[in-house]
Amino acid sequence: MENIKCPACNDGNLILVDNEETGERYYECDKCHYKNQNLRVVHANVRCPECNYFLEIVRTRRLISGGQYHCTNCGYKAPFPKRKKTV
Ligand SMILES: [Zn+2]
Ligand SMILES: [Zn+2]
Repeated sequence: MENIKCPACNDGNLILVDNEETGERYYECDKCHYKNQNLRVVHANVRCPECNYFLEIVRTRRLISGGQYHCTNCGYKAPFPKRKKTV
């Protein structure tokens, strides 16, 4: 698996932590204190163009098949791209 660069320090790599005591799974940076429990977001590896943090997908009720990307770090928002048909 490819290394996932930490968005906070841009130096360390994110490692998947399996906490058997609490049952928590999350990504943690091996260099700083960055932590992300939203595994899907990290897997998708979609980054904010403003600050390079991971974008979370916010689904809206109005758009049945759509939503928005939202950066929890700087507040950046972008429309969720429609899926392209692959041939
Ligand atoms: Zn880091
Ligand atoms: Zn951002």
